[in-house]
Amino acid sequence: MVNRRIDVPRALITGITGQDGLYLGELLTAKGYEVFGLIRGQSNPKVAVVERLVPGVVLLEGDLTDLPSLIGAVEISQPDEVYNLGAISFVGLSWKQAELTGETTGMGVLRVLEALRIAGGNDMSRVRFYQASSSEMFGKVRETPQRETTPFHPRSPYGVAKTFGHYLTVNYRESYGAFACSGLLFNHESPRRGIEFVTRKITRAVARISLGLQDSLTLGNLESRRDWGFAGDYVEAMWRMLQQETPDDYVVATGVTHSIRELLDAAFGRVGIGDWSGLVKQDPRFFRPAEVDVLVGDPSKAREVLGWTPRVGFEELIAMMVDADLALEAESTGKALTIR
Ligand code: GDP
Repeated sequence: MVNRRIDVPRALITGITGQDGLYLGELLTAKGYEVFGLIRGQSNPKVAVVERLVPGVVLLEGDLTDLPSLIGAVEISQPDEVYNLGAISFVGLSWKQAELTGETTGMGVLRVLEALRIAGGNDMSRVRFYQASSSEMFGKVRETPQRETTPFHPRSPYGVAKTFGHYLTVNYRESYGAFACSGLLFNHESPRRGIEFVTRKITRAVARISLGLQDSLTLGNLESRRDWGFAGDYVEAMWRMLQQETPDDYVVATGVTHSIRELLDAAFGRVGIGDWSGLVKQDPRFFRPAEVDVLVGDPSKAREVLGWTPRVGFEELIAMMVDADLALEAESTGKALTIR
Protein backbone atom coordinates (compact mmCIF):
# COMPACT_ATOMS: atom_id res chain seq x y z
CA MET A 1 0.00 0.00 0.00
CA VAL A 2 1.38 3.38 -0.99
CA ASN A 3 0.72 6.40 1.24
CA ARG A 4 0.19 9.12 -1.30
CA ARG A 5 1.07 12.70 -0.50
CA ILE A 6 -1.99 14.80 -1.26
CA ASP A 7 -0.43 18.24 -1.42
CA VAL A 8 1.98 17.79 -4.35
CA PRO A 9 1.66 16.95 -8.05
CA ARG A 10 2.22 13.31 -8.95
CA ALA A 11 4.01 11.97 -11.99
CA LEU A 12 4.21 8.42 -13.29
CA ILE A 13 7.24 7.62 -15.47
CA THR A 14 7.58 4.49 -17.58
CA GLY A 15 11.20 3.79 -18.48
CA ILE A 16 12.45 5.40 -15.27
CA THR A 17 15.56 3.18 -15.29
CA GLY A 18 16.74 4.63 -18.61
CA GLN A 19 18.80 7.71 -19.32
CA ASP A 20 15.82 10.04 -19.79
CA GLY A 21 13.80 8.52 -16.95
CA LEU A 22 16.59 9.24 -14.49
CA TYR A 23 17.05 12.85 -15.61
CA LEU A 24 13.29 13.43 -15.62
CA GLY A 25 12.91 11.81 -12.20
CA GLU A 26 15.59 14.15 -10.83
CA LEU A 27 13.96 17.18 -12.45
CA LEU A 28 10.46 16.41 -11.18
CA THR A 29 11.73 15.61 -7.67
CA ALA A 30 13.52 18.97 -7.62
CA LYS A 31 10.25 20.61 -8.67
CA GLY A 32 8.47 19.03 -5.72
CA TYR A 33 6.62 16.24 -7.49
CA GLU A 34 5.95 12.86 -6.00
CA VAL A 35 7.52 10.55 -8.58
CA PHE A 36 6.27 7.05 -9.37
CA GLY A 37 8.27 4.82 -11.67
CA LEU A 38 7.32 1.65 -13.47
CA ILE A 39 9.84 -1.13 -12.91
CA ARG A 40 10.00 -4.17 -15.13
CA GLY A 41 10.98 -7.71 -14.23
CA GLN A 42 12.02 -9.40 -11.03
CA SER A 43 15.07 -8.16 -9.09
CA ASN A 44 15.66 -5.40 -11.62
CA PRO A 45 19.34 -4.48 -11.09
CA LYS A 46 18.67 -0.82 -11.86
CA VAL A 47 16.42 -0.25 -8.82
CA ALA A 48 19.35 0.87 -6.66
CA VAL A 49 20.45 3.50 -9.21
CA VAL A 50 16.92 4.90 -9.51
CA GLU A 51 16.50 5.06 -5.73
CA ARG A 52 19.87 6.81 -5.35
CA LEU A 53 19.25 9.43 -8.05
CA VAL A 54 15.53 9.97 -7.41
CA PRO A 55 15.17 9.94 -3.61
CA GLY A 56 11.65 9.24 -2.45
CA VAL A 57 10.65 7.62 -5.74
CA VAL A 58 7.88 5.04 -5.46
CA LEU A 59 8.59 2.10 -7.75
CA LEU A 60 5.68 0.06 -9.09
CA GLU A 61 6.04 -3.28 -10.81
CA GLY A 62 4.67 -3.31 -14.32
CA ASP A 63 5.42 -3.87 -17.96
CA LEU A 64 4.44 -2.09 -21.16
CA THR A 65 3.38 -5.45 -22.59
CA ASP A 66 0.94 -6.07 -19.72
CA LEU A 67 -2.18 -3.90 -19.61
CA PRO A 68 -3.47 -4.98 -16.17
CA SER A 69 -0.17 -3.98 -14.58
CA LEU A 70 -0.43 -0.56 -16.22
CA ILE A 71 -3.99 -0.05 -15.00
CA GLY A 72 -2.80 -1.03 -11.53
CA ALA A 73 0.08 1.45 -11.67
CA VAL A 74 -2.29 4.25 -12.71
CA GLU A 75 -4.79 3.35 -9.97
CA ILE A 76 -2.11 3.36 -7.29
CA SER A 77 -0.27 6.48 -8.39
CA GLN A 78 -3.31 8.56 -9.45
CA PRO A 79 -0.97 10.65 -11.58
CA ASP A 80 -1.43 14.23 -12.73
CA GLU A 81 1.19 13.63 -15.41
CA VAL A 82 2.33 10.46 -17.17
CA TYR A 83 5.57 10.31 -19.14
CA ASN A 84 5.85 7.30 -21.41
CA LEU A 85 9.60 6.90 -21.87
CA GLY A 86 9.72 3.11 -21.77
CA ALA A 87 10.70 1.41 -25.02
CA ILE A 88 13.09 -0.94 -26.71
CA SER A 89 15.15 2.07 -27.67
CA PHE A 90 18.14 0.82 -29.64
CA VAL A 91 17.54 1.07 -33.39
CA GLY A 92 20.13 -1.62 -34.21
CA LEU A 93 18.38 -4.19 -32.01
CA SER A 94 14.98 -3.43 -33.52
CA TRP A 95 15.71 -5.52 -36.64
CA LYS A 96 16.81 -8.47 -34.52
CA GLN A 97 13.83 -8.23 -32.16
CA ALA A 98 11.24 -6.59 -34.38
CA GLU A 99 8.22 -8.16 -32.72
CA LEU A 100 9.33 -7.23 -29.21
CA THR A 101 10.05 -3.70 -30.43
CA GLY A 102 6.55 -3.49 -31.91
CA GLU A 103 4.99 -4.81 -28.71
CA THR A 104 6.90 -2.51 -26.37
CA THR A 105 7.74 0.63 -28.32
CA GLY A 106 4.51 0.66 -30.36
CA MET A 107 1.74 -1.28 -28.64
CA GLY A 108 3.09 -0.15 -25.26
CA VAL A 109 1.84 3.36 -26.05
CA LEU A 110 -1.63 1.98 -26.77
CA ARG A 111 -1.64 0.11 -23.48
CA VAL A 112 -0.60 3.15 -21.42
CA LEU A 113 -3.28 5.28 -23.08
CA GLU A 114 -5.86 2.55 -22.58
CA ALA A 115 -4.82 2.19 -18.93
CA LEU A 116 -5.43 5.91 -18.46
CA ARG A 117 -8.79 5.72 -20.25
CA ILE A 118 -9.97 2.63 -18.37
CA ALA A 119 -8.73 3.78 -14.95
CA GLY A 120 -10.38 7.15 -15.55
CA GLY A 121 -13.73 5.57 -16.45
CA ASN A 122 -13.45 6.89 -20.01
CA ASP A 123 -12.58 10.36 -18.72
CA MET A 124 -9.08 11.31 -19.85
CA SER A 125 -9.33 14.97 -18.89
CA ARG A 126 -7.69 14.67 -15.48
CA VAL A 127 -4.30 13.49 -16.60
CA ARG A 128 -1.62 14.90 -18.88
CA PHE A 129 0.31 12.47 -21.07
CA TYR A 130 3.72 12.77 -22.70
CA GLN A 131 4.80 10.36 -25.43
CA ALA A 132 8.51 10.02 -26.21
CA SER A 133 8.45 10.19 -29.98
CA SER A 134 11.63 10.17 -32.02
CA SER A 135 13.48 11.78 -34.89
CA GLU A 136 13.87 8.22 -36.22
CA MET A 137 10.30 8.66 -37.49
CA PHE A 138 11.63 11.09 -40.10
CA GLY A 139 14.05 8.40 -41.33
CA LYS A 140 14.55 8.91 -45.06
CA VAL A 141 14.02 12.60 -44.62
CA ARG A 142 11.58 14.50 -46.83
CA GLU A 143 12.94 17.93 -45.93
CA THR A 144 15.80 19.44 -43.98
CA PRO A 145 15.67 20.55 -41.22
CA GLN A 146 12.85 18.36 -39.96
CA ARG A 147 9.95 20.07 -38.21
CA GLU A 148 6.57 19.13 -36.74
CA THR A 149 4.93 19.14 -40.19
CA THR A 150 7.59 17.05 -41.98
CA PRO A 151 6.11 13.75 -43.26
CA PHE A 152 7.44 10.57 -41.68
CA HIS A 153 9.38 7.83 -43.45
CA PRO A 154 10.77 5.55 -40.74
CA ARG A 155 13.66 3.26 -41.69
CA SER A 156 13.68 0.66 -38.92
CA PRO A 157 11.19 -1.41 -36.92
CA TYR A 158 11.97 1.01 -34.08
CA GLY A 159 11.06 4.03 -36.21
CA VAL A 160 7.87 2.34 -37.42
CA ALA A 161 6.84 1.47 -33.85
CA LYS A 162 7.51 5.05 -32.68
CA THR A 163 5.43 6.38 -35.58
CA PHE A 164 2.52 4.16 -34.48
CA GLY A 165 2.86 5.53 -30.94
CA HIS A 166 2.97 9.10 -32.20
CA TYR A 167 -0.21 8.82 -34.26
CA LEU A 168 -1.96 7.04 -31.43
CA THR A 169 -1.09 9.91 -29.08
CA VAL A 170 -2.54 12.39 -31.58
CA ASN A 171 -5.57 10.14 -32.01
CA TYR A 172 -6.34 9.92 -28.28
CA ARG A 173 -6.11 13.71 -28.14
CA GLU A 174 -8.60 13.97 -30.99
CA SER A 175 -10.83 11.04 -29.94
CA TYR A 176 -11.06 11.51 -26.19
CA GLY A 177 -9.87 15.09 -25.66
CA ALA A 178 -6.83 13.75 -23.82
CA PHE A 179 -4.12 16.24 -22.89
CA ALA A 180 -1.62 14.16 -24.85
CA CYS A 181 1.63 15.56 -26.23
CA SER A 182 4.21 13.98 -28.47
CA GLY A 183 7.82 15.15 -28.20
CA LEU A 184 9.75 14.54 -31.42
CA LEU A 185 13.12 14.31 -29.74
CA PHE A 186 16.31 14.17 -31.76
CA ASN A 187 19.27 12.16 -30.42
CA HIS A 188 20.04 13.12 -26.86
CA GLU A 189 23.02 11.79 -25.00
CA SER A 190 24.80 11.94 -21.65
CA PRO A 191 27.22 9.97 -19.50
CA ARG A 192 24.19 7.80 -18.67
CA ARG A 193 23.64 6.77 -22.30
CA GLY A 194 23.77 3.02 -22.94
CA ILE A 195 27.10 1.81 -24.30
CA GLU A 196 25.47 0.44 -27.48
CA PHE A 197 24.75 3.96 -28.78
CA VAL A 198 27.46 5.45 -30.94
CA THR A 199 28.24 8.48 -28.74
CA ARG A 200 28.81 6.47 -25.59
CA LYS A 201 30.48 3.64 -27.50
CA ILE A 202 33.00 6.19 -28.75
CA THR A 203 33.52 8.16 -25.53
CA ARG A 204 33.99 4.96 -23.54
CA ALA A 205 36.45 3.52 -26.07
CA VAL A 206 38.37 6.81 -26.22
CA ALA A 207 38.68 6.80 -22.42
CA ARG A 208 39.86 3.18 -22.45
CA ILE A 209 42.31 3.78 -25.30
CA SER A 210 43.81 6.79 -23.55
CA LEU A 211 44.19 4.75 -20.34
CA GLY A 212 45.86 1.91 -22.24
CA LEU A 213 42.97 -0.52 -21.61
CA GLN A 214 41.98 -0.97 -25.26
CA ASP A 215 43.83 -0.76 -28.61
CA SER A 216 41.18 0.25 -31.10
CA LEU A 217 37.51 0.88 -31.73
CA THR A 218 35.27 -0.80 -34.33
CA LEU A 219 32.35 1.09 -35.81
CA GLY A 220 29.92 0.98 -38.74
CA ASN A 221 28.91 3.90 -40.96
CA LEU A 222 31.10 6.95 -40.25
CA GLU A 223 29.25 9.20 -42.70
CA SER A 224 25.86 9.37 -41.02
CA ARG A 225 24.97 12.64 -39.32
CA ARG A 226 22.92 13.30 -36.24
CA ASP A 227 21.62 16.27 -34.26
CA TRP A 228 23.00 15.43 -30.82
CA GLY A 229 21.88 17.29 -27.68
CA PHE A 230 22.18 16.76 -23.93
CA ALA A 231 19.49 14.53 -22.37
CA GLY A 232 19.39 16.69 -19.22
CA ASP A 233 18.21 19.62 -21.35
CA TYR A 234 15.65 17.55 -23.24
CA VAL A 235 13.68 16.34 -20.20
CA GLU A 236 13.01 19.99 -19.35
CA ALA A 237 11.23 20.30 -22.73
CA MET A 238 9.07 17.25 -21.90
CA TRP A 239 7.93 18.84 -18.67
CA ARG A 240 7.25 22.19 -20.33
CA MET A 241 4.99 20.53 -22.92
CA LEU A 242 2.71 19.31 -20.15
CA GLN A 243 2.51 22.76 -18.51
CA GLN A 244 0.92 24.46 -21.55
CA GLU A 245 -2.74 25.38 -21.84
CA THR A 246 -3.29 23.11 -24.81
CA PRO A 247 -1.62 19.85 -25.81
CA ASP A 248 0.54 19.82 -28.91
CA ASP A 249 3.55 18.16 -30.55
CA TYR A 250 7.05 19.62 -30.59
CA VAL A 251 10.40 18.96 -32.22
CA VAL A 252 13.17 19.06 -29.62
CA ALA A 253 16.61 19.40 -31.18
CA THR A 254 19.69 21.62 -31.29
CA GLY A 255 19.36 22.47 -34.99
CA VAL A 256 23.00 21.50 -35.58
CA THR A 257 24.15 18.27 -37.21
CA HIS A 258 27.51 16.48 -36.93
CA SER A 259 28.97 13.39 -38.58
CA ILE A 260 30.37 10.37 -36.76
CA ARG A 261 33.78 11.58 -37.97
CA GLU A 262 33.26 14.91 -36.20
CA LEU A 263 32.19 13.01 -33.12
CA LEU A 264 35.45 11.06 -33.28
CA ASP A 265 37.41 14.32 -33.69
CA ALA A 266 35.74 15.80 -30.60
CA ALA A 267 36.13 12.68 -28.43
CA PHE A 268 39.74 11.86 -29.35
CA GLY A 269 40.61 15.57 -29.23
CA ARG A 270 39.51 15.65 -25.61
CA VAL A 271 42.31 13.21 -24.68
CA GLY A 272 44.87 14.93 -26.92
CA ILE A 273 44.73 12.53 -29.89
CA GLY A 274 44.51 14.47 -33.16
CA ASP A 275 44.84 11.66 -35.71
CA TRP A 276 42.58 8.74 -34.83
CA SER A 277 42.67 7.04 -38.25
CA GLY A 278 44.87 4.16 -37.03
CA LEU A 279 42.68 3.59 -33.98
CA VAL A 280 39.27 3.22 -35.65
CA LYS A 281 38.22 0.19 -37.70
CA GLN A 282 35.02 -0.47 -39.58
CA ASP A 283 33.02 -3.69 -39.63
CA PRO A 284 29.89 -4.50 -41.68
CA ARG A 285 28.43 -5.92 -38.46
CA PHE A 286 27.75 -2.40 -37.31
CA PHE A 287 26.12 -1.19 -40.52
CA ARG A 288 22.32 -1.18 -40.60
CA PRO A 289 20.02 -2.82 -43.16
CA ALA A 290 18.53 0.63 -43.85
CA GLU A 291 20.21 3.81 -42.70
CA VAL A 292 19.01 7.22 -41.63
CA ASP A 293 21.71 9.36 -43.22
CA VAL A 294 21.17 12.88 -41.96
CA LEU A 295 19.00 14.13 -39.13
CA VAL A 296 18.73 17.76 -38.08
CA GLY A 297 15.76 19.26 -36.33
CA ASP A 298 14.20 22.71 -36.35
CA PRO A 299 13.41 23.52 -32.71
CA SER A 300 11.76 26.92 -33.47
CA LYS A 301 8.34 25.92 -32.17
CA ALA A 302 9.75 24.60 -28.89
CA ARG A 303 11.73 27.80 -28.51
CA GLU A 304 8.81 30.10 -29.29
CA VAL A 305 5.99 28.30 -27.48
CA LEU A 306 7.80 26.49 -24.65
CA GLY A 307 10.62 29.00 -24.20
CA TRP A 308 13.00 26.04 -24.43
CA THR A 309 16.56 26.19 -25.72
CA PRO A 310 19.34 23.63 -25.34
CA ARG A 311 22.10 24.74 -22.95
CA VAL A 312 24.82 22.18 -23.65
CA GLY A 313 26.47 22.29 -27.09
CA PHE A 314 28.06 19.41 -29.01
CA GLU A 315 31.71 19.91 -27.96
CA GLU A 316 30.73 20.40 -24.33
CA LEU A 317 28.51 17.30 -24.42
CA ILE A 318 31.21 15.06 -25.83
CA ALA A 319 33.80 16.47 -23.41
CA MET A 320 31.41 15.78 -20.52
CA MET A 321 30.95 12.19 -21.69
CA VAL A 322 34.66 11.52 -22.26
CA ASP A 323 35.51 12.97 -18.84
CA ALA A 324 32.85 10.84 -17.15
CA ASP A 325 34.09 7.71 -18.91
CA LEU A 326 37.68 8.50 -17.98
CA ALA A 327 36.64 8.79 -14.33
CA LEU A 328 34.59 5.58 -14.51
CA GLU A 329 37.31 3.54 -16.21
CA ALA A 330 40.03 4.87 -13.93
CA GLU A 331 37.91 4.02 -10.91
CA SER A 332 37.14 0.48 -12.05
CA THR A 333 40.77 -0.11 -13.00
CA GLY A 334 41.85 1.22 -9.62
CA LYS A 335 39.45 -1.13 -7.90
CA ALA A 336 40.65 -4.08 -9.96
CA LEU A 337 44.27 -3.25 -9.08
CA THR A 338 43.41 -3.01 -5.38
CA ILE A 339 41.69 -6.39 -5.46
CA ARG A 340 44.73 -7.91 -7.12
P1 GDP B 1 20.21 6.21 -33.43
O1 GDP B 1 20.25 7.49 -34.20
O2 GDP B 1 19.09 6.17 -32.45
O3 GDP B 1 20.24 5.00 -34.29
O4 GDP B 1 21.53 6.24 -32.50
P2 GDP B 1 22.91 5.43 -32.56
O5 GDP B 1 23.82 6.14 -31.62
O6 GDP B 1 22.68 3.97 -32.30
O7 GDP B 1 23.41 5.57 -34.08
C1 GDP B 1 23.67 6.83 -34.64
C2 GDP B 1 24.34 6.64 -35.99
O8 GDP B 1 25.66 6.14 -35.79
C3 GDP B 1 23.63 5.67 -36.93
O9 GDP B 1 23.58 6.24 -38.22
C4 GDP B 1 24.57 4.46 -36.94
O10 GDP B 1 24.54 3.72 -38.17
C5 GDP B 1 25.91 5.13 -36.77
N1 GDP B 1 26.96 4.22 -36.30
C6 GDP B 1 28.15 3.97 -36.90
N2 GDP B 1 28.84 3.05 -36.23
C7 GDP B 1 28.07 2.67 -35.18
C8 GDP B 1 28.24 1.73 -34.12
O11 GDP B 1 29.26 1.04 -34.01
N3 GDP B 1 27.23 1.63 -33.20
C9 GDP B 1 26.10 2.40 -33.30
N4 GDP B 1 25.15 2.29 -32.36
N5 GDP B 1 25.90 3.28 -34.29
C10 GDP B 1 26.87 3.41 -35.23
